Amino acid sequence: MKERFLIKNTTIVNEGESFIADVLLADGHIQQIGTIDVEPNYKVIDGTCKHLLPGIIDAQVHFRDPGLTHKGDLYTESRAAIAGGVTSFIDMPNTVPNILTVESLKEKYEIASKKSLANYAFFLGVNGDNIDAVIKMDTSQFIGVSDDGLYFTKKGNLLADNPETMEKLFANCKSIIAIHSEKEQIVEENERIFREKYGEDIPAKFHPIIRNTEGCYEATKRAINLAKKHNARLHILHLTTEAETHLFQNDIPLQEKKITTEVSVHHLWFSDKDYEQLGMLIKWNPAIKTQQDKEGLLAALLNDRIDIITTDHAPHTLEEKQKTYFQSMSGAPMVQHSLNCMLEFYKEDRISLEKIVEKMCHNPAILYGMTKRGFIREGYYADLTLVDLNSKWTVEKDNLLYKCGWSPLEGTTFQTEIKQTFVNGNLIYDNGVFQENIFGMPIVFNNKQY
Ligand SMILES: [Zn+2]
Repeated sequence: MKERFLIKNTTIVNEGESFIADVLLADGHIQQIGTIDVEPNYKVIDGTCKHLLPGIIDAQVHFRDPGLTHKGDLYTESRAAIAGGVTSFIDMPNTVPNILTVESLKEKYEIASKKSLANYAFFLGVNGDNIDAVIKMDTSQFIGVSDDGLYFTKKGNLLADNPETMEKLFANCKSIIAIHSEKEQIVEENERIFREKYGEDIPAKFHPIIRNTEGCYEATKRAINLAKKHNARLHILHLTTEAETHLFQNDIPLQEKKITTEVSVHHLWFSDKDYEQLGMLIKWNPAIKTQQDKEGLLAALLNDRIDIITTDHAPHTLEEKQKTYFQSMSGAPMVQHSLNCMLEFYKEDRISLEKIVEKMCHNPAILYGMTKRGFIREGYYADLTLVDLNSKWTVEKDNLLYKCGWSPLEGTTFQTEIKQTFVNGNLIYDNGVFQENIFGMPIVFNNKQY
């Protein structure tokens, strides 16, 4: 008889409550939740004094496969994700080649089926070249479209900076449109001013003044207005300012929202005070901003104006990061520690475990219409992570699993540890040891037409 996992006596955190129970996994799914007797063919995992969470769904990562695999690939980065309790991810289209056609999307699924230890879905990229094709496509084939990391015009502008094109997309595209929201004109003008003063070597601390609040706010406001005009399904990626949070609603359930947003973990974790010590290592676009923004983002997460938490995991080599301002790549790896970061806020009494699970597990599944994932429910896929809320450890080079081999969190001590991670009922991560020959599944989604 096939081996089944029985997680005994664990504290389940799910759908707004925490309670002690046993969970039986069978055939990839959660078979039963309750008080369950041990049978001879059960492999028992003792969950005493540990918390069982649905596997984290990270709805924005850049795993760099295909084409940029010197930075990371679907194997290395999904492995790091699983050690961090992440069981599913949605990857962005700015690989080489960019994922701009259904054919390249299929190729990426093919690569993932042989390399990814976690479950996967992919955005279709939209840029200046393929927009006419995108608006004619059958949207049931992709989980959403995004411009994140792509150059929208030859000049390098973002979609958010091309109102006419954005209008065309919003008027016609039937899928979720996930955009990177910054106004390039404002950024370019600020770059010019700072270049005049500092040349190429602008100190990192000016990054949030160059990529400032106004640039984010204006772009987000305009995108929301256009989406409303066309009744489009808009998702604003990685919000960074307190000001923008007030542009979003919290008076209707997520299921009914047509305009949603997210915060990335690093924008909750770092502030502009950290540029002095970490410099270009924390150069992200949009930029890490002020302490007040950081607090405003957490407040908006708690009161549901922000719907989900992502990492925007974006590995670059240290060499690519440690260059002068204009040459240093934006982005950093975060996927191995996103849950630990959020649990640190829990330890500080700033967020509940139930809220973390809502924003990292339930809501990404709801927002992207994922089938049978994101919840601890009988009949759902057994994507689970077992965490110890009282185990200290420090992020060091030695315990990083990223191909790029560095993290902006090196030296950070966490008070919680991810002990085990199950993907589709398989114990893929067990106290530092991986099961490496079982791959994740493509995420099934119900892509309703908007
Ligand atoms: Zn991104």
